[in-house]
Amino acid sequence: MAEETRQKAVRLFFAIWPDKETCMQLDRLTGRLASVCEGRKTKAENIHLTLVFVGEVNASQVEALCRAADEIEGHGVRAFDLVIERICVWKRKNIVYAEINEVPRPLMDLVEALQSSLSLVGFSLEERSYKPHITLMRNASCKTLPERAEPMVWRAREWVLVKSDQTSDGPVYTPIGRWFLKGDQRMINSLNHQR
Ligand code: ATP
Ligand code: MG
Repeated sequence: MAEETRQKAVRLFFAIWPDKETCMQLDRLTGRLASVCEGRKTKAENIHLTLVFVGEVNASQVEALCRAADEIEGHGVRAFDLVIERICVWKRKNIVYAEINEVPRPLMDLVEALQSSLSLVGFSLEERSYKPHITLMRNASCKTLPERAEPMVWRAREWVLVKSDQTSDGPVYTPIGRWFLKGDQRMINSLNHQR
């Protein structure tokens, strides 16, 4: 990598992206919310669950992040399902988000493994405790809000490292690394084929 490229800052986060079906369900839900809320909808292709926000780093640090992720993948965190049915508002930030019913242990294992290995290799992360949420609207002002959405099951089978670019048209996310959760490989392959 040329020195100039290595020094360039990139904004990164680890996340889980929904499969096509879950993405469509969440997008339909966002559309329904937009009929009772003013604000900015999350574009379908941008819907995600953040695991760990890394923030601005030099491009040269991406390799260290990927090595940490490889090691965690090697430990074999199990695949898990996320059940979503509650819609909530974060008033202080004017965010409408979908909440996960019962936070699966493997999700917390993955987040904790990422937090501790990134801290070990020198990244300083948020002190706030992890609160999984899927942001559906920003700058939101809602008259009423359906408390429950139609229950949906999001089958998490992989996680990604994503570059975030702020543009005048909102954020643009580009995956730059992908790792798998441990599960039935045949099932994972068939899920990937359906995408
Ligand atoms: P924008 O900032 O343009 O409105 P965004 O917040 O989606 O868009 P980023 O700020 O790059 O884009 O954030 C990427 C992801 O990381 C989002 O899910 C965001 O909620 C989360 N995130 C951002 N900053 C933090 C932070 N300080 N702590 C925890 N999560 C964060
Ligand atoms: Mg942001």
